Amino acid sequence: MIPRLEDADVSGKKVLLRAGLNVPVADGLVVDEFRIDIALPTINYLKEKGAKVLIVAHLGREGESLLPISQRLGKHFPVVFAEDFFSEDTKAKIDGMQNSDVLLFENVRREVGEKENDEVFAKKLADLADLYVNDAFPASHREHASIVGVPLHIPGYAGIRFQEEVKELSKALEPNFPSVMVIGGVKFETKEVLIRESLKRYDHVLIGGALANDFFKARGLEVGTSLVSNHLSVVCEFLHDPKLISPIDVVVQNGEGKKIRAVSEVKEDEAILDVGPKTIELFNEHISDASFVVWNGPMGNFENGFGEQTEGLAKAVAASSAETIIGGGDTLSAIKQLNILDAFSFVSSGGGAMLDFIVDGQLPGIDALINKRSF
Ligand code: ADP
Ligand code: MG
Repeated sequence: MIPRLEDADVSGKKVLLRAGLNVPVADGLVVDEFRIDIALPTINYLKEKGAKVLIVAHLGREGESLLPISQRLGKHFPVVFAEDFFSEDTKAKIDGMQNSDVLLFENVRREVGEKENDEVFAKKLADLADLYVNDAFPASHREHASIVGVPLHIPGYAGIRFQEEVKELSKALEPNFPSVMVIGGVKFETKEVLIRESLKRYDHVLIGGALANDFFKARGLEVGTSLVSNHLSVVCEFLHDPKLISPIDVVVQNGEGKKIRAVSEVKEDEAILDVGPKTIELFNEHISDASFVVWNGPMGNFENGFGEQTEGLAKAVAASSAETIIGGGDTLSAIKQLNILDAFSFVSSGGGAMLDFIVDGQLPGIDALINKRSF
């Protein structure tokens, strides 16, 4: 069992909360609130119980500042922002905290020890607090210090959203019949294990996005200048599995613009940038009959005007009477404007973490809470 926040006595304690606040920011403003909103229940719980809440989080890929997040959280409750972890100035801020106060540290990925899971850094982080809470499900597939290192040293618990992610995504480990897994997006190598596992567990596995290009190429079809990976030998392994459904038509771009084509009619100078409308109809036949649907990964290059079929798929999944789980950073951005997140049974905040969890129900961040205590 994963230790739960609700089982810890947090009153008056300093709690190091690893939160998942990696939200899209543009021009210094938070542009999507989803991950802020889902972080609030755990923060509010800790405040209500009188803990001193020390929040550790990361943002972006370039060590972007968490100051905009601090300002955004500040609309809900006062937040003290600490520009580093261990200076005298920060120590004074922590020492000055009353029960229920909230402090947010600057981007933890600016610290060299974080990604390396440096032992000394993890111990120094742990020494800042009495207890540790992980509510950063989307970062829990990473063996980083703030995810797996800190709970070696102080008691660790899963936060409220983290527990919900585990509970809901666990359903995808034993899906109800008939079940459908829809996988799109890019980077075959990150989705290979999921495809293999899904073919064992799901009744149908529908492939779209750039992943589908690899399947076309493996079948000897022309893919023109489309994005493909170099994993064709692995793709061939899946090719003849009758559970695997790949697109029957695609949207290509050539010198003249967009065209819908059968998959066998793509030309040398064309790039496949979306699946076609007949493919979404075919996918919908499986989705509308299903009891359980999981979807991760856009069907096309939505950022550049090839989002139509991703939207069509989103509407089909939302309209299905099946239990529906969706997730993925790009997947959620691609359908944000539809405002239909309420129509899914569960929207995971995880991308890579969601995929890794669905493979075998395990993540380094979960393991670290259960097994690794040395204190
Ligand atoms: P998620 O973040 O939801 O897990 P991924 O990161 O796996 O999804 O994939 C999203 C990316 O896939 C987007 O940047 C999108 O443009 C790209 N993509 C999907 N289909 C295509 C395609 N046919 N050609 C190029 N890029 C594609
Ligand atoms: Mg992505």
